[in-house]
Amino acid sequence: MADRDITVQEVGPRDGLQATDIIMPTQAKVAWLEALANSGMPQVQVGSFVPPKLMPQLADTAELVAAARARGGFEITVLVPNLKGAERAIAAGVDQINFVMSVSEPHNLNNVRKTREESLDEFGAIVALRNATPGARGVKVSGGLATCFGCTIQGAVPEADVFHYAGRLKALGADKIGLADTVGYGNPTQVKRIYTEVLDIAGGTPVGAHFHDTRGLGLANCFAAFEAGASTLDGAQGGLGGCPYAPGATGNVVTEDLVFMLESMGVRTGINLDRLLAARAVMAAHLGDEPTHGTFVKAGPPKGFVPATAA
Ligand SMILES: [Zn+2]
Repeated sequence: MADRDITVQEVGPRDGLQATDIIMPTQAKVAWLEALANSGMPQVQVGSFVPPKLMPQLADTAELVAAARARGGFEITVLVPNLKGAERAIAAGVDQINFVMSVSEPHNLNNVRKTREESLDEFGAIVALRNATPGARGVKVSGGLATCFGCTIQGAVPEADVFHYAGRLKALGADKIGLADTVGYGNPTQVKRIYTEVLDIAGGTPVGAHFHDTRGLGLANCFAAFEAGASTLDGAQGGLGGCPYAPGATGNVVTEDLVFMLESMGVRTGINLDRLLAARAVMAAHLGDEPTHGTFVKAGPPKGFVPATAA
């Protein structure tokens, strides 16, 4: 990480495309991944190993992992909800498994049809599988917690629950702990408070941040998490994604805007903004009528702007 101060993870190919009506052709996704690699993007969540029937948009994840491995250039991550998904991820050759469970029990039951305790058992089994699989010892296992800042089903989520499950994931051997604002309920004060405590619980294990911009606070929340010490920030190009139950809602924080914010603050991402915009154009060319978001793409850089990465 000598060439950068923070890791930005592009999650559009997973979080963005899973929320779209269209199914982006595999070759178009490969072209997008190629363009992301050219931009210097250090980490890309290329898909998810969930049953293809549930998520046909991501049914080609194994092919994308293979294409990304052949190309090289970024760390390949995939989202997995259970042990079966982890088996497929390891077989495909990922660098990092992003396991996810919800801090909200009703959301976890809805999303993965498991209680939180059952999800923790899955996570322990995934770590054990990684440890027992020859050649997989270098695969990192990240424990992600969804609905850390509120839940559309449960409403407020007690912070004590976030701290409890972060500690449990750490104890089970997580290489990274991710906190996600799945529905865009968080605010910067809350984010700073929760990250400060979770970083303490993590005791040196990296903590990642995943914010949705549903209510316009995505970048502010990223800043708060960064200030508290988060080491990975997620974004989706064009703010791709959304929520079928919240018309007009945007998806993740817009990657281009996030990278501009960090670079203008003097924080090196290792990403070239011009090439990042080129990658966005590759993505947008295959999106049909899906809406995209973002302000940097419209306004461009300020006059005389020198990104921290180029300085
Ligand atoms: Zn998300």
